[in-house]
Amino acid sequence: MTIFTSTSTPRQVMTVQGLLPYQELGITDAHNHMWIEPEQGADPGSPVLNQFNLICKELVEYRKKGGETLLDCQPEGSGRDGNKLLALSKESGVNLIACTGFHRKKYYSPDHWFWKANPQKISDFLCSELEQGLYETLNTPIPVKAGFIKIALESTWAACPKPALEGAASAALKLKTLLEIHTEKGCLAEKAYVYFIDLGLIPEQLVFCHMDKRPDASLHKELASQGVLLEYDTFYRPKYNPAGNLWPLIEQMVGAGLSDHVTLATDMAEAEHYHFIGGGAGLSSLPGEIQKNLIDKNFPETARTQMLGGNIAHRLAGIK
Ligand SMILES: [Zn+2]
Repeated sequence: MTIFTSTSTPRQVMTVQGLLPYQELGITDAHNHMWIEPEQGADPGSPVLNQFNLICKELVEYRKKGGETLLDCQPEGSGRDGNKLLALSKESGVNLIACTGFHRKKYYSPDHWFWKANPQKISDFLCSELEQGLYETLNTPIPVKAGFIKIALESTWAACPKPALEGAASAALKLKTLLEIHTEKGCLAEKAYVYFIDLGLIPEQLVFCHMDKRPDASLHKELASQGVLLEYDTFYRPKYNPAGNLWPLIEQMVGAGLSDHVTLATDMAEAEHYHFIGGGAGLSSLPGEIQKNLIDKNFPETARTQMLGGNIAHRLAGIK
């Protein structure tokens, strides 16, 4: 087992309530959204998730079904509130892991400082959210720290914010942090892979999100065999035909011996997907129905454990 931290032992994982050994994360949703404040000036279609009691109820349901941890993928400036994440975690008993980084430009007020900053300033800000605490929690008795970096690619390379990509790479390199990368339906994954490796990151630091929207098994196998982690989350998005695309893709990856390079999530940024808000499948579908389907489809227990949290826990702990 090789470690990508500078120490010889795995790192503990930073949750909103503090450090936890990676072995204690349990079933973990690798990409979700637990709180999104409306942002003035952002695209009017941007999702909002701010019904505290209902979100809390949803998290309690997640725990009842056997889920223990979720990664929140909303960075500062796009509606994140680390104080709410902390309160939700305390009240529901679920581990939440907050992020620093950046989302797609459309989720921000157009005059947000981030888009005018140089890579150094961006890297310093990301490092400070990982080391000192999330910006909005700095004036609280125990600031909430970010546990990973989440960034977003646009649909073309020309449209991607280069200073922000460079700043995020530099922060991830400096602190040996995991980098979750939103892709627009899987676009640019191979381009971004080369970009980040050229900047000195190692494949095991990279998680490419929403890759099942581009269910090209040979591309997935190629990226996975390089060492990156692929995140799949279209279980409840009929327009992507999960029965015809996502489930066969999981079968192919597990069949190829690459179950240690796949991580599952439900990415429910829209309130309609929440069970107690919009009547959707809800957060508890990962430990519930999705886990049940994995069992019914006879996926080996090792593969299930890896894809339902083991892999993302290892990556957060800096284990290859
Ligand atoms: Zn998301």
